[in-house]
Amino acid sequence: MSIHDRYRLSVVINAKGTYTPLGVSRSSYGVAEAVAQALPEFFVMDELGDRASEAIAQVTGAQAGAVVHCTAAGITLSVAATMTGGDPRRVAALPDTTDMHNRVVMPASHVVNYGHSNLQGVRLAGAQVDLAGDENRCGIDDLEEELDGPDVACLFLVSSRLTHGEPIDLVAAVRAAHRRGVPAIIDGAAQFPRIADLLSTGADLVLVSGQKYLGSPTAGLIAGSWPLVQSVRAQDKGIGRVMKPTKEAVIGVLAALEEWQAFDRVKWEADQLGKVVSFARAADEIPGVSTEVVQDPTGLQVSRVLLKVPDAKRIATELEAGSPSIYVMTDRADEDELMLELIPLDDTEIAAILARLWAILTQ
Ligand SMILES: *Cc1c(COP(=O)(O)O)cnc(C)c1O
Repeated sequence: MSIHDRYRLSVVINAKGTYTPLGVSRSSYGVAEAVAQALPEFFVMDELGDRASEAIAQVTGAQAGAVVHCTAAGITLSVAATMTGGDPRRVAALPDTTDMHNRVVMPASHVVNYGHSNLQGVRLAGAQVDLAGDENRCGIDDLEEELDGPDVACLFLVSSRLTHGEPIDLVAAVRAAHRRGVPAIIDGAAQFPRIADLLSTGADLVLVSGQKYLGSPTAGLIAGSWPLVQSVRAQDKGIGRVMKPTKEAVIGVLAALEEWQAFDRVKWEADQLGKVVSFARAADEIPGVSTEVVQDPTGLQVSRVLLKVPDAKRIATELEAGSPSIYVMTDRADEDELMLELIPLDDTEIAAILARLWAILTQ
């Protein structure tokens, strides 16, 4: 009996990308096997933390790394680390930030909502957020203005499809923070494949989700400078207690990182593009549908299929209402556009999406 039948759960075809409300991603058999081996065992959790740090450092080129519960937790704990350093008294005092630098500077265009606002993720540590620029634009001069002045704990930046307006020059932004002697953190949750690029901006900490493009169990990976990563790990004895990684998550991350290193990226990217191109070609045959292959705007080597369809909202609703439920990206449904990400899907699932589109559009 399938796990869906056993617990009376909807079967889902997820063409919406690494989307948290749908379970994000599929882990490989090898990762699932490692997790299954970990669950009945005991470990010295600090040792697991050390092995994770070594593995993250090796894969990313950073000095050190840490695994926390998820990237949202990584935001809170990274900000906490910049406020407390390794001081156990300060770690225990959070979210009370009396006598700590507690201002976090952030471009207003980097306020995003991935289920909750990242501002809350920052504020959970006890920090106060100062926004630079406006929703559509934050120049380096705007950042410098906010970074100027006392009590700044860190600069917080987001690298994501969710940010607004003109993209900020991350290298220049990190440099502006460093000129003021302030560390810079980049949240690149869905950017695991680009983590080395994000680190090469000079950022002190870079955060990515394990469960997005790495395909591990839910986990936040933090890569960065040795002292700041140690300060993140020090939060285990403070607010990090409620955001700790599970043993199976850390083992799953280790297994996924191993697979990542063994893996033929170039072939994978070519195969994925092939899937997208052939889906687009097939969908183009459906009456009323036109398609485009769209490259990820943030620099991930990922393409998606843009479907231009009449009455896109209704079509998305009908796709979800069927069985299995088919989920697609609806951010631009008002403009009669639907976007599909095919990475986790197999041939049977892709054929099922095409068949359903045919049925809905020709009924
Ligand atoms: C998904 C996402 C998060 C949250 O990641 P979790 O690992 O689910 O906590 C944070 N920031 C951005 C930009 C995201 O896309």
